[in-house]
This record gives sequence, C-alpha cells and structure tokens, in this order.
Amino acid sequence: MQVDADLHIHSRYSKAVSKAMTIPNLAENARFKGLGVVGTGDILNPKWEEELLRYTEKVDEGTYERNGIRFLLTAEVEDSRRVHHVLIFPSISTVREMRKELKGYSQDIDTEGRPRVNLSAAEIADIANELGILIGPAHAFTPWTALYKEYNSLKEAYQGAKVHFLELGLSADSEMADRIKAHHSLTYLSNSDAHSPMPHRLGREFNRFEVRDATFEETRKAILKRGGRKIVLNAGLDPRLGKYHLTACSRCYRKYSPEEAMVFKWKCPKCGGRIKKGVHDRILELADTEERPKDRPPYLRLAPLAEIIAMVIGKGVETKAVRVIWERFLKEFGSEIRVLVDVPLEGLAEVHEEVAKAVWAYREGKLIVIPGGGGKYGEIRLPEEIRKASIAELESLEVEVPKEEYRPKQTSLMKFLRGAPK
Ligand SMILES: [Zn+2]
Ligand SMILES: [Zn+2]
Repeated sequence: MQVDADLHIHSRYSKAVSKAMTIPNLAENARFKGLGVVGTGDILNPKWEEELLRYTEKVDEGTYERNGIRFLLTAEVEDSRRVHHVLIFPSISTVREMRKELKGYSQDIDTEGRPRVNLSAAEIADIANELGILIGPAHAFTPWTALYKEYNSLKEAYQGAKVHFLELGLSADSEMADRIKAHHSLTYLSNSDAHSPMPHRLGREFNRFEVRDATFEETRKAILKRGGRKIVLNAGLDPRLGKYHLTACSRCYRKYSPEEAMVFKWKCPKCGGRIKKGVHDRILELADTEERPKDRPPYLRLAPLAEIIAMVIGKGVETKAVRVIWERFLKEFGSEIRVLVDVPLEGLAEVHEEVAKAVWAYREGKLIVIPGGGGKYGEIRLPEEIRKASIAELESLEVEVPKEEYRPKQTSLMKFLRGAPK
C-alpha cells in the first residue's frame, strides 16, 4: 500500500505554535489534506504524551490511531550547539527512556515541546541508537538551528554515530541535497514542521511510503530501504518558496548574493540587521558532485492550494473566503494532492475557473515565483496574460515568465509525474 506521511510537526506545547495543535484537530485536518500518517512531534513532552494516549487507540507499540489517521511517535530536540534533530521512536517506553536519559541535561524537557539538551549531536545520536530510535538532522540546511549552519559535514557533526535519514526542510529539495555526495546513501524526509493545523501548513510537505501497513515498523523498514519498503515520492514546497531559500537580511528581507554579504560582513547596509545565508547558497558552497543516486525517489514541488487560492482572489490565506473555495475543491476531488497534480484543467474549472487557471500555470511552471529569504516565505504571482485568458485559450498562450537567479530544471509537474507512481 501507499500512504502519505508528514512526520515532523509541533504541538501546542512548543513556542509560537497555534493553540489549535491538538490531537483531534490534527487527525481531522490530516484527513482533509489526504495524509494517512502524522508524526506526533513533541512526544518527549509528558503532557503531549498524555493527550496522545487519551485521544487515540493503540495499534502496536509504536503506532496509534484516531479516526483512521495513524500517529507515529516523533520529536525534535535542540542540542548544545543549537542544532535540531528529528527522532522517531519505536514505542512509548523508549520515549520515556529517552526522556529519562535527557533529563539531567535539559531544563525544559517537561514543559517545552522541543527541548533544549546540553549534549552534542553525536551524544544524542549515540543514545538514540542504543534505544533503537531513528534519528537524523532536522531541516538540515537552514541558517539558524540546523546542522549545516554549524558543521560542514554529517561526519563532523555526528562523529561517525549512525543517522538514518536527512530532513530536507522547506527551502531545499532532493536535487539540491544530492549535490553533497555523502547524502547519497541516506533517505530524505520531506516534512512540514507545521506550527498550525491550517491547510497551508500541515502536510505542505510529506513522504509517500510504499509499505505493507501504516505502522512504525513498516516505516522504519522504508526509511532503511529494507524488504522492498521505501519512500516512492517526496513532495514538498517549491524550495524557492521556503523562508531561507536565498541569502537575505533577517530584518528587512533585502536579498544579497553571498559575495555581497561577505563584503558587508553579514550586516545589512540598509537597516543594520543580520544577513542570513540562504539554503541555496549554502548548498553551493558544500556541493561536491553533479551525480544523483539511482534510487532517489522523485521530488514533487508544490505550492499549497490555499496559497494559490489566496493569490487568485486577493485575500489573506487564513480567511474564510479562501477556506470556502479550498473546501469546495477538497469535497469534489478528495485530496489536495489530486487537485494540484492529477485533476485535468477542465475538471478544476467546474469548481472555480480562476483558481483552475492558476493551478494549471503552476503545473506548467508559468507562475512567477519570488524566492524567499531571511525568514520571509517566497511568493507566487499569476502573470497578467494568464489572468486575462479564457480556459480555452490557455494551452496556446505564450507566456514569458521573468528569469530569476535560480530556477529548478524541472518545472512541469504533469510532464514530471508521468514517470511517478500513482
Ligand atoms: Zn527545528
Ligand atoms: Zn536589512
């Protein structure tokens, strides 16, 4: 079977997270989105563990269920050098053991969702490995709290301790991460890191697993590529839309080339804010290969449907007006991924003509993408010619999309997906 899983989110016990991040809300919104599996996130927090146990049924040691949505036990920890790691636990008892192990090194493990732990990456990985917990770097390339802001290689960070996957983060995709040879044997995870259950957050990145059942054990095998289990598709935000894609000022968001930033000593000459190195530029610094591993699953670049709708009708992404149209599409076609990828233009047009045109433009690589950077998400714009054209005129329309500094080679989703699994 194939199942879509988003394994990294945060609960209402983490800082800056929506109060709506509850287990029942997660289950309900996961169903809307078309996800079958959600990582609990924050499971090291005892209150979140309690909430999970109250609202779900146990399937097996490492798998819980509510209304047909499976939950796996996951968490994120911050190490002594402010690097984040994702953990996936085989059971509640290993969650509790890990909590006990980390307690002496953490002030906030009982109160925070994402605890700060005064141990190195290698020490945390050693404990995880001893307990049979899967571990890998979270959003590996982002400039504040990730592995590559601190180290130049996995080896330097983990000192040879085993890691089982690498999380790409919103500002990178598989093609970018594969520029580093040491990643080629690792499985990539594409997770949302959602702080709210809203449709443009939860499941904005997910992994499509080929497994026998939606359980921890099957997921573990897939991550380790054993017995035919595997990830067949990573789907995620177009990396240009990520908050840290290009190098930019973290206060006024003005973009800089890495050379300019260096000249300005990483201080914005316009406002005095700190310039943060973009994931795109960080990867180019580290890149040591042009080759791709043969078993790398395809990466599908997405823009959240709610954001496409918001762009078309000119309303905020969290407004009622956007939600109403979003729900109409979901009711008609069952899941967001089908709307974005599979349903033909004419079908979409029956629900909302203007949105249909924008989805078509995205599939064809004809939306204008203004890349994100410095902590500000990228933006999408619909070219005027497309806005004015009728559905019938679209296919023959000549559209000039402005050139940008970085454009992915694969732009047409439809062309791309012909080779992808259903
Ligand atoms: Zn993080
Ligand atoms: Zn600035």
